[in-house]
Amino acid sequence: MPETSIYEKSTSNFANQYVPTDGDGEVTQWLPEHLVADTPPALPQVSEREVIKHYTRLSQENFSIDTGFYPLGSCTMKYNPKVNDWAAMLPGMAQLHPYQPEETVQGALQVMHELSEALCDLTGMTETTLQPAAGAHGELTGILTIRAYHAANGEDQQRRVVLVPDSAHGTNPATATMAGYKVKEIPANENGLVDLQQLREMVDESTAALMLTNPNTIGLFEEDILEIADVVHQVGGQLYYDGANLNAIAGLARPGDMGFDVIHMNLHKTFSTPHGGGGPGCGPVAAKEHLVPFLPKPRVVKESDRYHLKHDYPQSIGRIKGFWGNFGVMVRAYTYITTLGIDGLRQSSQDAILNANYLRHLIREAFPASHLDRPCMHEFVVSGSAVKKMGSSAYGVAKRLLDYGFHAPTIYWPAIVPEALMIEPTETETKETLSQFAAALKQISKEVSEDAEFVNHSPHNLPVGRVDEVKAARHPELTWSS
Ligand SMILES: *Cc1c(COP(=O)(O)O)cnc(C)c1O
Repeated sequence: MPETSIYEKSTSNFANQYVPTDGDGEVTQWLPEHLVADTPPALPQVSEREVIKHYTRLSQENFSIDTGFYPLGSCTMKYNPKVNDWAAMLPGMAQLHPYQPEETVQGALQVMHELSEALCDLTGMTETTLQPAAGAHGELTGILTIRAYHAANGEDQQRRVVLVPDSAHGTNPATATMAGYKVKEIPANENGLVDLQQLREMVDESTAALMLTNPNTIGLFEEDILEIADVVHQVGGQLYYDGANLNAIAGLARPGDMGFDVIHMNLHKTFSTPHGGGGPGCGPVAAKEHLVPFLPKPRVVKESDRYHLKHDYPQSIGRIKGFWGNFGVMVRAYTYITTLGIDGLRQSSQDAILNANYLRHLIREAFPASHLDRPCMHEFVVSGSAVKKMGSSAYGVAKRLLDYGFHAPTIYWPAIVPEALMIEPTETETKETLSQFAAALKQISKEVSEDAEFVNHSPHNLPVGRVDEVKAARHPELTWSS
């Protein structure tokens, strides 16, 4: 039976024992007059016991990283070691006030400074800002930094175009548009990589930047990256790295060495902060020397053995986030990086790549690779065309997987792959889990061949079946009404 809402559990006139009443049972006037409404809010009347049962049951109907495998491609839904949460929750970290005098928060500033330096080392860049609150926010910061650089060179009027591959994350073209640029799409070649010839024809003096990620969205490494960088730099453009998914290369290769000028990272993906549902994130931006003057301010600097926040950067694009950014996420990343060290980070990247290739191999017959069937990086894209031919779809497979206790992969993206299933197992899963997941996928493929409609009406064993996703998006009803 589905859990009813807390309002439906309400019993009328359930005495609320926490609101003070006088001898006659009348509510004592304990709020200031101007805060008291004429009619009381329609709050559900339930006991504390009922509230706890209700919300605990609801939480157990949800899917979570701590309870199951979550191979949502590009999102890096990996297990996050609890020690990171412990560090972030230490009173000295969690109970700081952003207006505290610098002398009283030296430790926090040190964490920020050392984290920035670690991210520079990992990416091959010169300086990092920790301000942006998410990946997309980091992209905007990075592109605005590039724009300020072109403006300082007197080229802002001339450089109006940002190039983006057609497989790019949707935030890339959105970012460029928001920063005032015209977006041009570069088509992928038949191998799913940037088409060098096309790129050569598309760049010119109007090119402000090329936004790229490597490995690309299909999980393949852009082998021509040094040449791509040359082509863009020769016309005076800048190379932007979407580093949301750095756990394919952390400790193995550095975007700075590949020729990239600026990069954002998602601490809430690679660097082990739980995410999803819109919780706080952190999307640091690291840049090469020539872009550093334009990065946001203030910045944490170290002067002899003291840390302080420096505001004096005349060419900076300014502040892009209230206070200093989402500090708790920085503490988690700092703990994660210092716990693993460079060798540990490299190992986790290698494990992520190994897991992706192992899984890709297990399922390749039922779900063939979208492009060249060659080794992938931390994730891979397969096509559900075969199940489509048998009367189901990537959507059907994704829903049926829920019945087997697995979260669905990312589906229908990248859009250049028909019936795309984008699978990212991450480094934190065991061989047994990957084998069970592969077995479920193969079983579903068999089910489709026997009875596609059964799969098309899944999930069958969950509290909620198929919901009307279009209606939910277009006409969201966010409050309960009887
Ligand atoms: C997740 C992701 C982003 C956006 O990050 P948010 O923190 O969700 O804004 C950008 N690019 C890629 C490739 C991503 O996977």
